[in-house]
Amino acid sequence: MVRVRFAPSPTGSLHLGNALGAVANRRYADEHGGSLQLRIDDTDAARNVPGGESAILEDLRWLGIVWDEGPQRQSERQVRHREAAHLIGEPDTDGSLRFGHVTLLRADGSPTYQLASAVDDLDFGITHVIRGSDHRPNEEVQAGIIRALGAEPPAYVHHGLLLGEDGTKLSKRHGAASLADLREAGFPAEAVRAYLEELGLPRHDVHLDLARLRRLSIEALAALSDDELAARVGVPLAVVPAMRGARDLRESREYAEHILAPTRAEVDAPETIDRMRELVESGLDGRAIVRELKAVGGNLKAVRLALTGRDRGPELAAVIESLSRDELLNRLDACGSTTH
Ligand code: GLU
Repeated sequence: MVRVRFAPSPTGSLHLGNALGAVANRRYADEHGGSLQLRIDDTDAARNVPGGESAILEDLRWLGIVWDEGPQRQSERQVRHREAAHLIGEPDTDGSLRFGHVTLLRADGSPTYQLASAVDDLDFGITHVIRGSDHRPNEEVQAGIIRALGAEPPAYVHHGLLLGEDGTKLSKRHGAASLADLREAGFPAEAVRAYLEELGLPRHDVHLDLARLRRLSIEALAALSDDELAARVGVPLAVVPAMRGARDLRESREYAEHILAPTRAEVDAPETIDRMRELVESGLDGRAIVRELKAVGGNLKAVRLALTGRDRGPELAAVIESLSRDELLNRLDACGSTTH
């Protein structure tokens, strides 16, 4: 049976390149009826960040990636790792233990990444190690450790790395280094997952395509039902029409604010506001109201300002649709622009 593993270090929210590995492992397991182990690679105590592991679990759940086993912490298997190291070699005088040029145990007796990963891949029956090509040099080392323990190494598959749009290492300055960055930027999880699925298992390094991600974001929002969209943003269902033109969840939230938290603005367009009041009272829908206002050369900007306190935002007809008749009339009254 196929058994794969995803082994992030608990350093905080997943880097998008690591998330690519998580998606690739999940897909490989699914395509082969196999299982995925989540392994926390916490062998380097100095790099572990408090809350780093829970941030990763949250990221994986957000992306909709489930794991079949784990989270298995490497730090909890130190006894086994040390035992394996002693099967392979003898400690140096300083207490460290080496295999060829590779350190397996540090002087303080703690197992290194190379040792812990090889032993865990062996003990958990991992059949395929799927990870980024930055780990290609580790293949020989880890396969060597497993052979020295008298076993056959798994198959190693190294995929290309995800780089920034400019071809340099993906970092925060590209606007999207970690899943937390993307979430904060308002990308829905479905869009990020779809983007990573599209990339698949790239043979060579790929450049992040933010334009593609934005397009997928628009598609993912369009696919959400009204109920889902309202729940996702945490606003009442009535606000949904105003959020429909938004391209990401941050913009959706901002548009919702136009409806839910109007700011006060001085409006000086008495004729338009009077006409608007009549149209609202006549019970026309948003689109018809905007059409009528245009027909008389009304000041649409003034209407938006009166209703939301902003001079730009979602389509005006959608703003009108998102407000009740009473609320529309209240806001028109409150803007202080009238001929009588
Ligand atoms: N913690 C390593 C990483 O996140 C895992 C390496 C491996 O998969 O063996 O890159």
